[in-house]
Amino acid sequence: MKESQNSSDSNIFDSLTHKERIFKNREALSSTYIPLYFPHREEEINNIAHILKPALHGSRPSNILIYGQTGTGKTAIAKFICEQITKKAQSENKKIHTSYINCKQTNTPYGILSNIGKTYSKEWEKQIPSAGWRIDKVYSKLKQKANENGGIAIIVLDEIDALVSKSGDDILYHLTGLNSDLENSKISIIGISNDVKFTSWLDPRVKSRLGEEALAFSPYNAPQIEDILYNRSKIAFYENVVEPLVISYCSSKAAQEHGDVRKALDLLRISAELAEREEREIVTAKYVNLAQNVMESDQVRNIISTLPIQHKATFASIIINQGSREKGQQTTGEVYATYTRICNKFKLEELSQRRVGHIISELDMQGLIHAKIVSLGRQGRTKFINLAIDTKQLKSIIQNDSLFTDIFEEIVKSNKFGSMQLRLI
Ligand code: ADP
Ligand code: MG
Repeated sequence: MKESQNSSDSNIFDSLTHKERIFKNREALSSTYIPLYFPHREEEINNIAHILKPALHGSRPSNILIYGQTGTGKTAIAKFICEQITKKAQSENKKIHTSYINCKQTNTPYGILSNIGKTYSKEWEKQIPSAGWRIDKVYSKLKQKANENGGIAIIVLDEIDALVSKSGDDILYHLTGLNSDLENSKISIIGISNDVKFTSWLDPRVKSRLGEEALAFSPYNAPQIEDILYNRSKIAFYENVVEPLVISYCSSKAAQEHGDVRKALDLLRISAELAEREEREIVTAKYVNLAQNVMESDQVRNIISTLPIQHKATFASIIINQGSREKGQQTTGEVYATYTRICNKFKLEELSQRRVGHIISELDMQGLIHAKIVSLGRQGRTKFINLAIDTKQLKSIIQNDSLFTDIFEEIVKSNKFGSMQLRLI
């Protein structure tokens, strides 16, 4: 008989491995994972590779501007291509430096130049203070380092629209002009923007220098997202743990949101995590619905908790009014009446009705309420306002927000607002 204790094929962890029955490689679904294969972007990758090819022969590649909506693969593909060209250059003994900068994080000229400097010199940080020098001094130091080092630098400026909206386009003018001051080295820039209209705010000279080549990444459709997810899921999951329907379900939901693959990957990952938490062996379509609820409520929670105080007071007024009536439609005037009571009670500065009207429009744009303008004939126009969020969900969110709980508690106490209370609280 086999002795189970010491047999080589048994292990005390065997009974615990059910926890990893689903995920083989969880990381493969994260948005920072860089796959080796990008379905439906072969042409774009090929185009970029062709544009960058001269770097391997020592000439400066054209600058490239890549634009497209979020989740269309711009960041992942730019990083992938940088890795590929670096490997190729190493194997052929060519001098190519690549540098990836996210301009949402690094959005000052000083920060950008410093980051580029690091690609040339490991000593850079010791030699250049992280702030305090005049920008032209940093700039000449960068030129000096580039010339000493030689070779071609490919600089990816991701979310470049954030840089321009924070610091203007001067830095891009200087960077794209740097080559004329360099003897022994060349720089080429890959700018990436999520905002398709970004170039319309650029100085025409910067626009033509930066956009020597321009590439648009179009949104994916549902079958394309399905291919991408299928490929990812082969890396991420054990065989046969995800129902095929789950992949197509996640894809069609993401396709409705401008073909954002990040959303599809998140949905797939959260679905699998929910199934895992319930110790299921198979991820079924039911979990996609649950995952979508989780994602939506996270988003709404985020929007509500970061509302400025006047917006919260206005939103609370709408919730209160809606709780006090059957059909729930209310006018700006009615919102304002409740709002002024809240301001009074909480010693908040009271804004004019017009200003509160603007806040109502903003809440509408954020998807928290529906506001529809209706004509009242000779009495002018007003808005009819409704909550746009499921009350159950809203309840769980406002219960965790101290300002809202204070407001509602106060209302229960004063009982001034009649019968409404308390369908919501
Ligand atoms: P963007 O920068 O355009 O917002 P990302 O490059 O961050 O988009 O892509 C979002 C996610 O989708 C990343 O995990 C990325 O790897 C993945 N992705 C996008 N396109 C593809 C594709 N064609 N093949 C495989 N994965 C993709
Ligand atoms: Mg990106």
